[in-house]
Amino acid sequence: MTSTNTTIATLFNDHRADVVLRTSDLVDFRIHTLVLSLVSPVFDSMFSLPQPPDAEDALPVISVSESSRTLEKCLGFCYPAGDPELADLNDVEDMLEVMSKYDVEEVKKRVRKSLLAPIFLENEPLRVFAIAQRYHLEYETRRAALYTLRRPQFKAYCAELEHISAGPYYRLAEYGARCRTAAAHVATVPNFNWIPRAFTWFLCRENSSLDTEFRSSNSTRKMDRKHWWLAYMRAVSAALADIPWFNTPKISQEIDVAMNKALACNTCRESIITEMRTSNQLLAAEVERVVTEVSQMYYHTC
Ligand SMILES: [Zn+2]
Repeated sequence: MTSTNTTIATLFNDHRADVVLRTSDLVDFRIHTLVLSLVSPVFDSMFSLPQPPDAEDALPVISVSESSRTLEKCLGFCYPAGDPELADLNDVEDMLEVMSKYDVEEVKKRVRKSLLAPIFLENEPLRVFAIAQRYHLEYETRRAALYTLRRPQFKAYCAELEHISAGPYYRLAEYGARCRTAAAHVATVPNFNWIPRAFTWFLCRENSSLDTEFRSSNSTRKMDRKHWWLAYMRAVSAALADIPWFNTPKISQEIDVAMNKALACNTCRESIITEMRTSNQLLAAEVERVVTEVSQMYYHTC
């Protein structure tokens, strides 16, 4: 066998190692079979086959199809002292692939955790979704699906979609549409069941045509459709139809607009700060509740 580079990582260059794993790019990793046998049945049976020793090294050499970059990270997860960093989703996907191949279920849990790192979920939810779907990770699929809702449109493409079938992608689109409809409905006349009591602005008679009827949790009320609060509800409903989540810059803007109008009215400005906060908390909770309800229909784990 030709001579090869030696690995840079001291962790895999220990003199007590008993086997060499040689990667596709000809880097040698001197490893301890006991460590890997304990975490992987595939490694275990691989090591149980008789291996010819490498002339130079005197240790048996096993060639593996992984690159040194991938193997180094994988072994880093398998070794107790290792703590490899997965800087991007390509690394995470590589690890899931190699860990499925070597059947290291326990170790894979740490990689699954990395998949749900906030930086990936918030910035690239569709990629996380496709990866989770590809490796049949139900909990991760549901989390990622939820985060795709925080993007206004569902038009993005990512290469990871090539590895999943049209079915899951279709269901994700349908799920998004249903969440958007359900969320928008929360702020749409006439059912405001999430409002438990009379807020001061319900008593405002500034515009007195009282042409709009709606229900709060225990009574029917009437307000003028031009009243700032109904205008605010319409704006929130439109924003939720786009992103079914209350904590968005768009809704913050609408809160400011509504507050300014309320502060200009003698009746409404009384307690507006606390009442608006309470009302928004109730609204946000109701949006979350209806989205969770839809989520449970589509991704029913945990
Ligand atoms: Zn008023």
